[in-house]
Amino acid sequence: MLNAQLIEQFETVANLPHYAWPGGYALQYVMSDGGTLCAACVHDTSNPVTLDINGDDEGWIIAGVQTLEGSEEFEGEATCDHCNKNMWTD
Ligand SMILES: [Zn+2]
Repeated sequence: MLNAQLIEQFETVANLPHYAWPGGYALQYVMSDGGTLCAACVHDTSNPVTLDINGDDEGWIIAGVQTLEGSEEFEGEATCDHCNKNMWTD
């Protein structure tokens, strides 16, 4: 999982990628409470997603990002905690 310092390089939530480069694998965002969000939910401006680690919306602060590819932990299934989409298949 990439750490918060790498995430900060994108500066704003809107700049965060949907897919890994290179590779094109779907990205799964890991929140401060351990929950996971799909890229679509991260970019949905009706959600209070923030890169501010000092923010007070626990659960909406992005702590890291990971690709699903090559991760046996998520083999075949990785569900977004917000929209319940299976990130693996979409
Ligand atoms: Zn989602």
